Formats: sequence, structure tokens, C-alpha cells
Amino acid sequence: MKKLIQPLRLLVQACFMAGLFLPIFPFADNIGQKIWITILFVGVFFCGWICPFGALQDWLGWIAPKLHFPRYKLPQKLQQYVQLLRYVLYGLSVINIVLFFLNSRFFFEHSVVAGAWEWVSGSVMALFLLATLFTDRPFCNYFCVKGASLGVWSVLRPIGITREEKSCVHCSKCDQICPMNIEVSSVAFVRHPNCINCMQCLTACPKGCIKFKLIHSKR
Ligand code: SF4
Ligand code: SF4
Ligand code: SF4
Repeated sequence: MKKLIQPLRLLVQACFMAGLFLPIFPFADNIGQKIWITILFVGVFFCGWICPFGALQDWLGWIAPKLHFPRYKLPQKLQQYVQLLRYVLYGLSVINIVLFFLNSRFFFEHSVVAGAWEWVSGSVMALFLLATLFTDRPFCNYFCVKGASLGVWSVLRPIGITREEKSCVHCSKCDQICPMNIEVSSVAFVRHPNCINCMQCLTACPKGCIKFKLIHSKR
């Protein structure tokens, strides 16, 4: 069952990616709006399973090591500050300062129309895709306003990633694989607003101590 999670996620991502181009598949943003309320209870599945730009970053992240690109992660001390950037941008977008610019995150979703903003935002997105060859989901981690706007609603979710300390051997595989650079091995449950429910920590754990289930607040 555990082995099927990542192939299933890949399939779902591929279907929603196809939805950008083929009418037979649903468009990701429409689904995202419909399942918004679920974020309050189970976290942000949209980012880990549905969003085409997230999927594109995942796929590049899987391909890059095979092409021998070196991979980097920000040290946790730096990560905790840099990851705030997307929440700052979210705050600014709420007052409509950068909304137009950031709305074009799916640069390939738009037809090629002349316009300085689209050109600039397209270039920024291309730079982030380039950065994806060296680090996991850089746009999601540090820049995406939409991801921030969804993540803030997920922090009190009653169901999420939990870790059993007693069977943990502290191998750090869960930390290494987390594309959002969350230190899973140091917590009993993940209620981090950046968690995208990709389940990679769960599938990577050799001891089966990571589960997606009801979070017991006493732990
Ligand atoms: S953080 Fe943004 S770009 Fe990344 S998956 Fe979520 S909505 Fe998509
Ligand atoms: S992968 Fe599993 S065993 Fe290893 S540190 Fe994480 S929770 Fe512990
Ligand atoms: S904590 Fe686990 S489920 Fe959440 S983003 Fe990291 S690897 Fe994915």
C-alpha cells in the first residue's frame, strides 16, 4: 500500500497537468477552489497532488539527480527565515500590491500575449524552474502566494503527518526527502503551514513510524 502512494500521486499530478491542455481532465484551480474547505481538516493536498506548477517542480527535482545536478537544501536556521518570504508576499498581495504579478504563476497557462508583466513573470518562473534543478520546489518554498494562502488555513488541521518516536531510529530520511525542508524527525506531528501532504516522508521512512492520521494533541 505504502509503495503505491507516490505512483498514485504522480498519476494524479499528470492528470491535472493534462487538464491545462485537454478539456477531458479537470483544471487544477477549479478543483482547488472546490476542495478548499478540506484544508481545514486534512491540510494542503492541492499543492502536493494537484497543482501543475508544483508537479513540474517535483518532476524536475526527480530528473535533476539523474542528470548529475548537485542538490542543495537550505540549513534549517536559514530556512526558517527565508520561508517567511512567501507569507510576506501573501500579506502584500492581500492589499493588492503584487497580486497581478503573482497571479501569473502558471506562466504556461496563459497564451503568449505581449505584455511586460507577463514577460517578466514568465522570466521569473523560468528562473525558479532552473533553480529546481538544484533544490526542491524553490517556488513553493519561498515565493508562492497561493501556497502561503492555503498553508495558513492548515495549521490547526486535526488529521496530518504523525511520527512515532518509539520506533524512530533517527535516520533522517524523512528530513532529507521532504521537498518543503520540514524537519519531520524532530516533531511528533507536522502542522507546519508549508506541508503539502506529498507523503514522501511517510513512504521514505524505513520503520513505518510516519503515518497520515488523526493528530493527538497530547503527544
Ligand atoms: S505552493 Fe504554489 S506553486 Fe507550489 S504547489 Fe502550491 S500553489 Fe502550486
Ligand atoms: S525516516 Fe522514520 S526512522 Fe528515520 S528519522 Fe524519520 S521517522 Fe525516524
Ligand atoms: S512533511 Fe512529509 S508530507 Fe509534508 S511536505 Fe514534508 S515530506 Fe511532504
